[in-house]
Amino acid sequence: MGDNNIYGISLLGEFKDRNIEKEFLNYELKRNSKVIGSVVIIYGLVYLSFFVSDYFSLSNTQSFKFIFMVRLIFLAISFILYLAMKSVNNHANMVYLITAYELIAILAFLIIINQYETLTFLSFLSLIAINAAIFITPNKFINAQFVSLFLNTAFFIFPARHVYGIDTTVIIKVILYDIMIITYCDIGFCLNNFHKRKQYADSLELLRLSITDSLTGIFNRAKFNEELNKWIDYGNRYENDISLVFFDIDNFKRVNDIYGHMIGDKVIQDIVSSIQSKIRSTDIFARWGGEEFVILLPNTDNDQAAEMAERMRISIEKITCSESENITCSFGIATFRKNESAEAFMKRGDKLLYEAKKRGKNIVVFETEVLEEA
Ligand code: GH3
Ligand code: MG
Ligand code: MG
Repeated sequence: MGDNNIYGISLLGEFKDRNIEKEFLNYELKRNSKVIGSVVIIYGLVYLSFFVSDYFSLSNTQSFKFIFMVRLIFLAISFILYLAMKSVNNHANMVYLITAYELIAILAFLIIINQYETLTFLSFLSLIAINAAIFITPNKFINAQFVSLFLNTAFFIFPARHVYGIDTTVIIKVILYDIMIITYCDIGFCLNNFHKRKQYADSLELLRLSITDSLTGIFNRAKFNEELNKWIDYGNRYENDISLVFFDIDNFKRVNDIYGHMIGDKVIQDIVSSIQSKIRSTDIFARWGGEEFVILLPNTDNDQAAEMAERMRISIEKITCSESENITCSFGIATFRKNESAEAFMKRGDKLLYEAKKRGKNIVVFETEVLEEA
């Protein structure tokens, strides 16, 4: 599908281009931000609910009170993070919040199991559950990897004294299972990241194809209409002028007949390149039909638009279709009148273009000039 090179994905399942990766993260995390926010609260509550099991497992009231406090603090931190996530504007930065949150959850977990006399079945189960949670939560591969490494190493080192009394073969088995689970999670995480990004790249490519003209790469008529309607809304609300430049290649049938369609296509592409260097990034340039083009110029009055069109006309005159024949275009310029429809606005532009053709072609006809003449 088109030139997908800019969307290259690394083995870790991330875009090689840092800017596209950042754009993707922003899009993905923005889409998921509400869910992630709620999940953080749910994690906090689930963490707290384990005080029931603490109550029945711990004979020491001091330890129970301490763990209960840790669980409560974790719930408070979850709530603070939920609020922080809500106020994030650049969603790509949420990976840092998520990573910090995961590290805090792990610390709380380690502090809690440190209060227990020995590791229990529930501690191993929690280890696996937290591992799974890390790899389900959207994050950058490196961050998720770091967090998981921290959790799994710390789990077996930090409360080492609690391993006392547990059969060594059981511990070895648990470590092996743990390594297997992390490996599966890693592979799944990479594949999932890869597919998500592939889908994102494909959807961007489809979007690009749906709004551009394949011969010239500029906007097509559908996209132009969408933009025009947006600008008409703007024009109705504010005092800024919006102008339309309509232009059509002169005697193009003849060019095709004499030099063939390939040369004709090349002429169309040359004209587009020449115009692109004359317009601003905010101007909306589209191919309206075969060899007819339209440019929407925001914040531009009729005279200013005519001046721009005159510069375009002169630059097009330099384009050739043979050694001896130059190309020309005729231009019609209309400026938006409050509360008129998009169709009426376009019709006025088209009419002025027709007038330019009638007056002998290769000229710019604009409203203020026509009004002066009248
Ligand atoms: P006028 O000066 O009045 O505009 O005369 P014209 O010959 O240019 O007439 P018109 O605008 O009606 O001509 C349109 C021609 O443009 C007909 C069609 O063959 C040609 N055309 C439309 N799209 C393409 C295209 O994508 N490639 C090529 N090579 N020719 C195209
Ligand atoms: Mg023409
Ligand atoms: Mg035409």
